[in-house]
Amino acid sequence: MKNKIISLAIVGLLLGGSLGVPLVQAQTSSQQSTLLASFSQINEAFIQLLASVINALAGQEEENIENDNTTLPPVLSLSQYTVDLLNIANELKQAPAAKKQAATDRLSEFVQIRKDAMLQEIKNNPQAVINNALPAWAVSQLPQNVISFVEQRKQIRGKFQYLDVHYGDFYTGTAANEFYVTESGTGKRYRVHLTGSPQALTGDMVVIDGIILDDQIATTEKSIQVISSPNRTRSSTSAATPSLLSKIINALGRKVANAQTTTPIPKKVAVIMFNWQNDTRTLSVSAAKGTVFTNSNSSNSFYKENSFGKIELVGKYQSDGDVFGMVTVPYDNSNCSTMYSVWSDAADAEVQRLGFDLSGYDIKTYLFPSVACGWSGIAEVGGYPARSWIRSTDLGVITHELGHNLGSHHASSWSCTESGVRVPIGQDMNCVIGEYGDPYDVMGLGGMRHINNSHKDTTVYFSSLDWLDDQNIFTIDRNIAPDATYTITPIEWSSAGVQALRIPKDISPTGYPETYYYLEFRQPFGFDDFAASSPPVNGVTIRIATDYNFIVKSRLVDTTPSTYDFTDAPLAVGKTFTDPYKQINVTTLSVAPAEAQVRVSFGAVPCIQANPSFSINPTSASLYAGQSTSFAYTLTNNDTTSCPSSNFSITPTLPAGFSQSPSPINHSLAGGTGVSGTLIISSPTAATAGSYSITETAQNTSVPGNYQSTATLTMNILLPDTILPIVTINSPANGATVSKGNVQIVVSASDASGIAQIQILVDGVLKKTCFNTTSCSGTVKANGLTVGTHNITAQATDKGGPVANTATASITIIKK
Ligand SMILES: [Zn+2]
Repeated sequence: MKNKIISLAIVGLLLGGSLGVPLVQAQTSSQQSTLLASFSQINEAFIQLLASVINALAGQEEENIENDNTTLPPVLSLSQYTVDLLNIANELKQAPAAKKQAATDRLSEFVQIRKDAMLQEIKNNPQAVINNALPAWAVSQLPQNVISFVEQRKQIRGKFQYLDVHYGDFYTGTAANEFYVTESGTGKRYRVHLTGSPQALTGDMVVIDGIILDDQIATTEKSIQVISSPNRTRSSTSAATPSLLSKIINALGRKVANAQTTTPIPKKVAVIMFNWQNDTRTLSVSAAKGTVFTNSNSSNSFYKENSFGKIELVGKYQSDGDVFGMVTVPYDNSNCSTMYSVWSDAADAEVQRLGFDLSGYDIKTYLFPSVACGWSGIAEVGGYPARSWIRSTDLGVITHELGHNLGSHHASSWSCTESGVRVPIGQDMNCVIGEYGDPYDVMGLGGMRHINNSHKDTTVYFSSLDWLDDQNIFTIDRNIAPDATYTITPIEWSSAGVQALRIPKDISPTGYPETYYYLEFRQPFGFDDFAASSPPVNGVTIRIATDYNFIVKSRLVDTTPSTYDFTDAPLAVGKTFTDPYKQINVTTLSVAPAEAQVRVSFGAVPCIQANPSFSINPTSASLYAGQSTSFAYTLTNNDTTSCPSSNFSITPTLPAGFSQSPSPINHSLAGGTGVSGTLIISSPTAATAGSYSITETAQNTSVPGNYQSTATLTMNILLPDTILPIVTINSPANGATVSKGNVQIVVSASDASGIAQIQILVDGVLKKTCFNTTSCSGTVKANGLTVGTHNITAQATDKGGPVANTATASITIIKK
């Protein structure tokens, strides 16, 4: 019994405690029934779902239920929330006057509950919010007082911000990217949620199409359009496109030659130090200047060495670095996670009030005493200025965040396990990334070790990591050199040799390299103060990354997988690394202070079959019984390109009475290629309101092994729309008189379920039909009518339900 009491409390909470029933006090099953009865007017499907949830919770183990930290899934799926909202709104419209207030209250409660569920889901699964957002017509039909509680489909234009956030302790914590847009005009800042990474970077002007709820946007990569990049401070001529790259892949010159420069490019950095009105702790300004600019082991020294003298960190007022502070911001030191950028804006204002101009800096680094933030550092990737926020004066953290500001992503590790055995390289699905897992790079766990060779020549527009020259990068073509020996020179100092030897790994369906193995050699030098016995100076280090025109995490390959440690990741002399999927073999032949020798050979690429990728969009649809709706599907054959083409069939599992066209769907696809198309699902007119699940299975029918993937759709059948549409003849006026010329007839109509068609009749004869629109107009010639009274009739038919509603309006014109 105790379980049931607690279950009810939880359900009450999730449904919004404002039911007028003190839920926690409901102690008997009869009271439980009473509670259910009070919901009976919402709708039957909802009640059934509610009851099933209560029963499910009541059946749980007590310890699960009493654990306050247990995160319960939403009581309803988002699609069910949307269906219920439409139904409740519909019932409000149909409610007699005496029940109007109760129905209004119920709708007001429900939109808040649904909003909470949407806001919870938008962080985890923005696609679900997009799929289950209300259509615009439905929003427009809602009462004004609830519209602010539902999402809007909207376009936001503004400035983009791409953040790299370090949660928890810097060296053991996790990292995440967060995206924001500040709307032009209003200045309102929205958090942007999407699956995947956007092409836009900090400072870009973008247009985002999305679903907006409060200050949150759910969108997709393709719905973020970069319209201008005012902060692209680099010439775009050096950014090789993938297609250009493929044409010159075997040439030494990867890109337009960089001018050799001995004069460092100055990067203007403002370090701004602040504390708060309620917190008088200070950080040493002179020590910070040493840390960032002037010490022999400063961030500045680090980047000078890493860039072979191509960049240096300077001040605008002082060539040896500008550090401002400590200034006090007029805020308390609480709520760091929401206040940090407010604080830094206030610190800027204070510095400017003291007479300094903060414009023209490439980078702004904010340092403040340690307060609870949930993160140790945040950096903008790109932007002008690119900013970072750090709650310490730690040299490693500052240098790492400056690395992001200059355009580097993290140096990660790549740990693969196949059939329970740890291996150097596995299929992607059997490998996990260690965010900071590279122990030999400042952008990983490497302390002040060099940025690796897959990041040292990043050519994304704003990046300042443009440090390798053409002769330093060599990409092997397996067709031209199936077995050859190469020399790699150390990454730490300027060299005329090859410092980045690249082997194309994953090839796109159209034949371009998507990822490479980057082979690198290190020696004890400067910041790379390795012991003589250290693995990276006694072997060749292998990482996976894209070409230099993307900002991605590099992934360190562990060539000694028998130990879980990545400190022995480099390939020692005499050892061979083999990628069995791509038939790539790398052997370290020798190492010496000036160079390493490696042999790279290739075998025939084997055919490896895999489950196809299959998705359907949207994943749910709301419609009335008897209606049809279309879905887009995408199917990709994930077999290697060396495999023969296979036939795939897409077949549905449908509820009774539902049908699909076409069915089945057949495609022949070469390995690594994909196809997209449309399928239409029709519901039977007899379907009762509720949720119906449909499974679509895409299967390779050419080979044994049952290579297949499924996608699930939800069809939400709405309660029939029993309310007649409103139809109005706007012109001519009732009783109008006309004598000659044309009579313009203008009709408008509206309905919650939308208008299927409007027909205009004159004296019972159909003159015009307009489909899927809320207005319709037509013309009759007055001299075609006899003298006397003529009737104009307009009929509107709504889209709701198996039997459409028709409303009519009539008017009389009298011809003189
Ligand atoms: Zn980072």
